[in-house]
Amino acid sequence: MSVRPYREIARRKSRQIFVGPVPVGGDAPVTVQSMTNTITADVAGTVAQIRRLEEAGADIVRVSCPDEEATAGLKEIVKQVNVPIVADIHFHYKRAIEAAEAGAACLRINPGNIGAHERVREVVNAAKDHGCSMRIGVNAGSLDRHLLEKYGEPNPEAMVESALEHAKLLEDNDFRDFKISVKASDVYLAIAAYEALAEACDYPLHLGITEAGGTRVGTVKSSIGMGWLLKKGIGDTIRVSLSADPVEEIKVGFDILKSLDLRHRGVRIVACPSCARQGFDVIKTVEILEERLAHIGTPVSLSILGCVVNGPGEARETDIGITGGGTLANEGSANKVYISGVPDHNVGNAEMIDHIVELVEKKAAAIEAAKAAAEAEKPAAE
Ligand code: SF4
Repeated sequence: MSVRPYREIARRKSRQIFVGPVPVGGDAPVTVQSMTNTITADVAGTVAQIRRLEEAGADIVRVSCPDEEATAGLKEIVKQVNVPIVADIHFHYKRAIEAAEAGAACLRINPGNIGAHERVREVVNAAKDHGCSMRIGVNAGSLDRHLLEKYGEPNPEAMVESALEHAKLLEDNDFRDFKISVKASDVYLAIAAYEALAEACDYPLHLGITEAGGTRVGTVKSSIGMGWLLKKGIGDTIRVSLSADPVEEIKVGFDILKSLDLRHRGVRIVACPSCARQGFDVIKTVEILEERLAHIGTPVSLSILGCVVNGPGEARETDIGITGGGTLANEGSANKVYISGVPDHNVGNAEMIDHIVELVEKKAAAIEAAKAAAEAEKPAAE
């Protein structure tokens, strides 16, 4: 029994598949993915964007393959990046075969949309030959006509039925290495569809609130929809859809997982909203620190509190903590620095930011060194 049972998440038991070397489902950590918005045939531009996504921590990246130029580009792209690539295919089964041959780790394709059974078999054979998994991606906005006629509108039942119909086509070809998404831009619909699908099968689920909007609205909608599902243990990989730089999608994805304690990547900053009691400019400090600490992938927690009202309490729970001690104008050593929850030394406002960056970088390096030492000891211990 956990000390804090209210923080426990019992994850749905799903079968595990692989997207390249990355496990999805089973006991694998929830992965974070995004999608490029460059022209795929522009190899240099697409590779540059994928590298930025890799730096932000993307586990998986999806690339659209609408034409032959795109799948030809994909072949070059996969050679130049480290993250596994999902080829996004709509309708054209030949693109799927080309993408599998080009080195895609996964095909996002709905087998019911590509025509005759023979074509499905050809795509499945290409996936099997090249070690590709697949994703069935049902979207409320593009439901099959017969389901719209049957249900009258895109509802959870129609979306689940669509997903299971596509799944059956793959199962009939003895293929089960796939995950499923049932995305909708309506949070209620997406939640209900995912909940029903989670009951109906054991395939890993790719979560998404589709066409969620710009950064602010999209982040809120995605956090509500995916947060609800993840808290219930549903979801094995997530994509936040934002009308914004795809790097933002990765950042928001990790922030959602960090909020639920499901994944820890980078610096988790706990900060107060600030008020008249603040001993330093909390908002500006957090803004600068977010920027200057963005390169750190190691999980480190940092609390930035403007005064002693909540500062010491939050600092006790974080690796490094700062609590304001003086006034905004204070240039002296008025702010208290906590290390591993214990008051350690003071720092003045003027040198505080550089000092925090240095402390966090040192902490991250120490965590990485300890991890490397533990890894190095493993073979000897076994
Ligand atoms: S921690 Fe202090 S400065 Fe920050 S909001 Fe609370 S009372 Fe205000």
